[in-house]
Amino acid sequence: MALKKVLTIAGSDTSAGAGMQADLKTFQEHDTYGMVALTAVVTMDPQTWSHDVTPLPLDLLDKQLNTAISIGPDAIKTGMLGSEEIIKRARQTYDEADAEIFVVDPVMVCKGEDEVLNPGNTDAMIKELLPKATVVTPNLFEAGQLSGLGKLTSIDDMKKAAEKIHELGAQYVVIKGGKALESDKAYDLYYDGQKHVLLSTDKFQSSYNHGAGCTFAAATTANLANGESPEDAIIHAKAFVASAIKNGWKMNDFVGPVDHGASNRIEKIEVYTEEV
Ligand code: ADP
Repeated sequence: MALKKVLTIAGSDTSAGAGMQADLKTFQEHDTYGMVALTAVVTMDPQTWSHDVTPLPLDLLDKQLNTAISIGPDAIKTGMLGSEEIIKRARQTYDEADAEIFVVDPVMVCKGEDEVLNPGNTDAMIKELLPKATVVTPNLFEAGQLSGLGKLTSIDDMKKAAEKIHELGAQYVVIKGGKALESDKAYDLYYDGQKHVLLSTDKFQSSYNHGAGCTFAAATTANLANGESPEDAIIHAKAFVASAIKNGWKMNDFVGPVDHGASNRIEKIEVYTEEV
């Protein structure tokens, strides 16, 4: 059977733990055919590791998107888009391509930096992307912004935010408690419009987890493309990223990426589910 074609619209992380590099590695680990339309190139200062985001010209993005649409992706994932213009392009790409699956990772800050890339982007994501999203995968901060509820600190807060984000049009919402929620386990909350399901794994080391968010959303996209139900796709993506984090490694004094291949090469991690 032909491989499913999965397109990511995302930035390049030259350190290759996150961004389109994480997406492509994860797509490959899931036996899908990964494709990329690049929005920007992120480079790091070797002395301080401060990030520099260089956007690609819009006409170059358009050419990539046209090429990708012509190939006919089965699923589309968005990562770092960076501007309202690009957010609109991502939406148009989904509308024009005949893809059934649209996974939105609502990246708002370039990981490792605290600054929101551009507040207008949040409104554009709400208007353009959420109404079409099969699954949206905000972390705690992003869920607070999308829902308008601000700082989220508990599972109850996550439930309220998930309901708001679902009302904005996303079919399935998974809020990553992950590293930001103070807890002994790594919790994520999944909401399908009817039930809330709390997913958990052990919490592993958190020094070398660069790229975890991208990897989780990419795995969810690939699982959906391969025909899994949204709930299974998310649970299996969590297991995949938990193994990647457990086996994360030190790259230099500043950063350590997850091991995108750990779930297939080293060990499987169990995910616990509970309706809450
Ligand atoms: P983001 O990078 O978007 O902020 P997170 O790193 O918080 O996202 O979460 C990505 C995925 O990794 C989620 O499923 C989250 O629960 C999981 N995760 C994050 N940190 C850990 C950890 N220390 N141990 C196990 N799982 C984790």
